[in-house]
Amino acid sequence: MNESSRIGIGYDIHRLVEGRKLVLGGVEISFEKGLLGHSDSDVLTHAICDALLGAAALGDIGAHFPDSDPKWAGVSSLKFLERAVELVTQEGYRVANIDATVIAECPKLRPHIQAIRESLASVLRIEVDQINIKAKTNEGLESVGRGEAMAAQAVALLIIR
Ligand code: MG
Repeated sequence: MNESSRIGIGYDIHRLVEGRKLVLGGVEISFEKGLLGHSDSDVLTHAICDALLGAAALGDIGAHFPDSDPKWAGVSSLKFLERAVELVTQEGYRVANIDATVIAECPKLRPHIQAIRESLASVLRIEVDQINIKAKTNEGLESVGRGEAMAAQAVALLIIR
């Protein structure tokens, strides 16, 4: 690849269930439920991984970290992000910026946004002002609106190093 910039998009959704920790962007958030899945099920980090991999035409998170592999059971999704950054770096790119939206009915995420940005920026090896995180509700609609799931969307821009 020799384009000067590349854009990627990521989307993810996980069920919210009792008896699991809630982790978003590597930050543990106190809440009565957490996200269900093989890893820590950090839906935001998963969407960002897919945006990065997508931008570099490197497939998706499921191809690199299959949930059939016991190696990834319960692991911090920041490990996936670290690896995704390594992969795009090997392709000759660096991250210009990330923009992401978490869609969740509750808890209120605004108080956690800055900690999440700092957590992600350190793994992405970028400045905090290169990553923006937004939180939306689903206005009570569908599974996310009923509090049965959380979803996330992300875009990543890579530029040649
Ligand atoms: Mg996921």
